[in-house]
Amino acid sequence: TGFSPEMNNWQQQFEERYSEGVRAERIKKDSRAMSQRPSQVASEGNDASLDYAVKKLKKAGLNPKVKSYDVYLSTPKKISVTQTAPEKRELQVMENLPKETPFKEEVLPGYNAYSPAGKAEAELVYANYARPEDFAELEKRGVSVEGKIVIARYGENFRGVKPDLAAQHGAVGMIIYSDPADDGYKKGKVYPDGPWRPADGIQRGSILPIYQYPGDPLTPGTPSIQGEKRLDPEEADHLPTIPTTPISYGEAKHLLKSMDGPKAPQEWQGGLPFTYHLGPGSAKAKIDLDIDYEQKPVHDVIVKIPGKTYPQQTIVIGAHRDTWGYGTQDNISGWATTMEIARVLGKMAEKGWQPERTIVLAGWDGEEYGLLGSTEWAEEKRDPLMKHAVAYLNLDGVGGKYFDASAVPSLNHLITSVTKDVTEPRNGKSIYEDWVERSDGEKPTIGQLGSGSDYTAFLQHNGVPSIDAGFSTPGGQYHSAYDNTDAMERFLDPGYQHQAAAAKVHGILALRLANADVLPLQYSAYGETVEKLLLEQVEKGASKEELKGAIEAAKAWQEAARNLEKEADSLIEDGITPEEREKLRSINRALLKQERDLMQEEGIPSRPWYKHQIWAPGLTTGYAAQPLPALAEALESGDESAVQQAADWLEASLQDAADTAQSAVR
Ligand code: GLU
Ligand code: CA
Ligand code: ZN
Ligand code: ZN
Repeated sequence: TGFSPEMNNWQQQFEERYSEGVRAERIKKDSRAMSQRPSQVASEGNDASLDYAVKKLKKAGLNPKVKSYDVYLSTPKKISVTQTAPEKRELQVMENLPKETPFKEEVLPGYNAYSPAGKAEAELVYANYARPEDFAELEKRGVSVEGKIVIARYGENFRGVKPDLAAQHGAVGMIIYSDPADDGYKKGKVYPDGPWRPADGIQRGSILPIYQYPGDPLTPGTPSIQGEKRLDPEEADHLPTIPTTPISYGEAKHLLKSMDGPKAPQEWQGGLPFTYHLGPGSAKAKIDLDIDYEQKPVHDVIVKIPGKTYPQQTIVIGAHRDTWGYGTQDNISGWATTMEIARVLGKMAEKGWQPERTIVLAGWDGEEYGLLGSTEWAEEKRDPLMKHAVAYLNLDGVGGKYFDASAVPSLNHLITSVTKDVTEPRNGKSIYEDWVERSDGEKPTIGQLGSGSDYTAFLQHNGVPSIDAGFSTPGGQYHSAYDNTDAMERFLDPGYQHQAAAAKVHGILALRLANADVLPLQYSAYGETVEKLLLEQVEKGASKEELKGAIEAAKAWQEAARNLEKEADSLIEDGITPEEREKLRSINRALLKQERDLMQEEGIPSRPWYKHQIWAPGLTTGYAAQPLPALAEALESGDESAVQQAADWLEASLQDAADTAQSAVR
């Protein structure tokens, strides 16, 4: 799709050459090298891994540039969690790593980045996953968290939502633990005997409310470079407010076991071998967090493969290069795979196989702290990206067995066509066929983009069509010191074959986007999806009258987009004459612009940084998408004028997209 017959031949050869060039062995070598030492932000290990990557990319004939930003970062000095009643017990905040573990002393303790420093001591209340409905349930049962430390389990939402809600309900501190029912022994054998989380495995992670805005918390909307204004930390509205820290289930069991008060509801019972109670009562804990706050640099790595015909137009492929601990899956897998894509494309370019459009490959730093490196870069390059970027492809966790993807609807068909052409290493079928089988024979669902990884600034701040795709294996290494080479090679992706497959998928996606005569962005499908999303809001109680304009505009968009697609197809089907070239350019301009039409510069009312009117992370989910965010939030609040305003904005955005599509139809 999108190729004239003549171009199609050349493209097929290009793709074959590319695929034949991809080597699992090289990914393995880089993965081992970069995951022998922890590379969290602003650490020696991170610098070492940066040097390694830069050297390797240079050796492949590329010209990597390091782009640094000074950002506001937290660093743990001393993290302590103590049970103070009914007995006193110091809880462990680090895994029991074997003595010979390399660079073991550089593994950070279990901690939540951007938790405020400070102390809290109080009775414990158990809040299940600390979702809005969990706090509502506590209230219903007459259990208040006011003045208490909330203990909640990981899962179901972005961890930063948990202390945010707990603080809103008056809690003074929070402990988040990994329950064995969610990713520990209730699921299967634990590490080192299997892939699940052992009793001492701690999930580290940021609690920065990225659903307000990601990136350096002191520079919302602007890049953290010299000369740009920074907020005073006191003025930053969205920093977490109560001391919050994570522990393992091996330690949490001491707290949970000694809690009294009412019995927890059936669904709140986790996997530990005793009955969970809500508290408050005799169980008390103390959190004492010594955390430093400073400006420190994060370093992105940027490589360019220049395009021959449309050098300004870019396809960006990105993966974060920072980790928690060794981070072999999260995200050395994505970064080593991205390096392999760069290397193969670089070698081909040396031999004259140059893409038509520019391909940019990026290793982001500071993703784990709040999408820092990607957001600052995307904020700095906002104008050129909004004008010329064709798509953003994200690799976050690609070393696993099962393929999965999320994307904007205009790219679904491209994902389908590419996954049909790449082999699934487990069984030799196509990745697509394997994916269909795992979806009970149905067409696989491509997820919606919310947040939690580096596509956020591209899609939701700059309107760049995005894909987040990779391979994963169910397990419990996530953000613990056991996400290491051993787990990768015994449980996740033993021969690095899936990482090589990911290099093929993302490389071919990029090459089709880079070389197509007609950009493979299918807006008729996008319009259909948006119409469905609007009708879902009607089912949830929005008035059809109010959404009439928006629904009509979604229909008009589908129609105009379909006409444009037809016209483009007939234009290229029997080769392209010089006169047709100009027409093609205007069609491509219209295709490039439609995602941008879905943005409003004012942003959505609750979060002005989030410009996209169709997709944002949910305010109480953090990871999961809230489609039509302004409308959904207005409906939820019951504010009629906000509903009207949101509906008007949607109508205007959809109508803009329809007009853009229409403008390129004869
Ligand atoms: N993907 C990372 C996480 O889930 C980073 C998300 C964030 O904090 O911005 O922890
Ligand atoms: Ca910023
Ligand atoms: Zn990640
Ligand atoms: Zn992560």
